[in-house]
Amino acid sequence: MAMICPECDWLNSDYETEASTDLHCQRCGHTLYRCARHRASRLQALTYSALLMLAAALSFPFLGFATQGTPHYMTLTDTVTTLVSHHFMALGIMIGVLLLVLPFLYLGLVAYLTFAIQYQRTLPGMRMAARTLASIAPWLMLDVFLVGILVALVKLHSIAKLELGLSFWAYCAATLLIARIWSLMDMPWLWDQLLGPVAAPHNTHAGTARQQSLCSCECCSAIQLMQTTHCQRCGHPVHSRRPHHLSITIALLLAASIMYIPANVFPIMDTTFLGQTQSSTIVGGIIQLWRGGSYPIAIIILVASILVPLAKIFVLAWLCWQHHSQYALTAQQKQRFYQVTEFVGRWSMIDIFVVAVLTALVQQGNIMNVIPGPAILSFAAVVVLTMLAAMAFDPRQLWDALPQQETHP
Ligand SMILES: [Zn+2]
Ligand SMILES: [Zn+2]
Ligand SMILES: [Zn+2]
Repeated sequence: MAMICPECDWLNSDYETEASTDLHCQRCGHTLYRCARHRASRLQALTYSALLMLAAALSFPFLGFATQGTPHYMTLTDTVTTLVSHHFMALGIMIGVLLLVLPFLYLGLVAYLTFAIQYQRTLPGMRMAARTLASIAPWLMLDVFLVGILVALVKLHSIAKLELGLSFWAYCAATLLIARIWSLMDMPWLWDQLLGPVAAPHNTHAGTARQQSLCSCECCSAIQLMQTTHCQRCGHPVHSRRPHHLSITIALLLAASIMYIPANVFPIMDTTFLGQTQSSTIVGGIIQLWRGGSYPIAIIILVASILVPLAKIFVLAWLCWQHHSQYALTAQQKQRFYQVTEFVGRWSMIDIFVVAVLTALVQQGNIMNVIPGPAILSFAAVVVLTMLAAMAFDPRQLWDALPQQETHP
């Protein structure tokens, strides 16, 4: 068995889907396989528990908020319905999709596919299910939302009495379970179990796949001949290198940098307190937190909302600019930069979730009231566009300038 590294295009010939140790790429060190025993049955148990916890998180009060003895309770779905009723339709739908639709869809698909594997059944739509699973995994943001809730609670704890409802704890449990499922799920393993492994050609040797006229399917990692247009196992289009990856990445980055301006100029949140309305921008909110003495929270928001989007735009632009040059940094260092930007990107959503939670929780008319400001949609666009830009970039091209036979053990 062999596997082509999705990050650097190296053909690793010692790959096994049932290996008893973790396997790493011989050239770049990327983890190709994480070993786990009884993966299918463990995934199933975790998935059913997570579904149960997520259902519980929807059925009870989530958070309680009281200024003068009359507590107001919100449920998890209130984060969506309050936004929609305040005419933030697009934002409400986005949060509903990220927090409710995608987690349920993800868990449902994992349950369906692991059922097929455990009982060796061929179920309808397995290919479609596995492809959907891979494409929604990067958009699961339960952990980011949890941090958003904590930030919102810190912002409120000095002015009101707060209560954590039963649903909150169920939600925490669901977040932990989904994180475990996410780390246990191995897409090449899943495809091998569902549709059988694809045999690699016999005369392969250590080297880049491109040099041997081979390429790997980005969806199911089956090894394909370079002239193939669609993967014979999953039907996904195959490319040795993604066509136009640079122009797509740069276009998305440009759009993100344009949206970054209104996101920081306009207020992200309007707070009404005793009849007086105050608008605050992202930076204004950070300064307020800092003055109030919540230094750790101020730093978290500063990093997540200001530094991470900027760093992502600059790092990706820089990688696009010199992805073919052999100078400055080695391919491996550039790859690390790329992996970090890809990993931290979704954490920028924290501020959006903070505003959504505050809006759902603080609805007491003129006494105290929070609604999102006009900047929130452009900020959401910045986060989504930079995430898409990182996904569009093809990291294999960072290695193409290297002499083809050289290895970095
Ligand atoms: Zn590699
Ligand atoms: Zn495929
Ligand atoms: Zn190129």
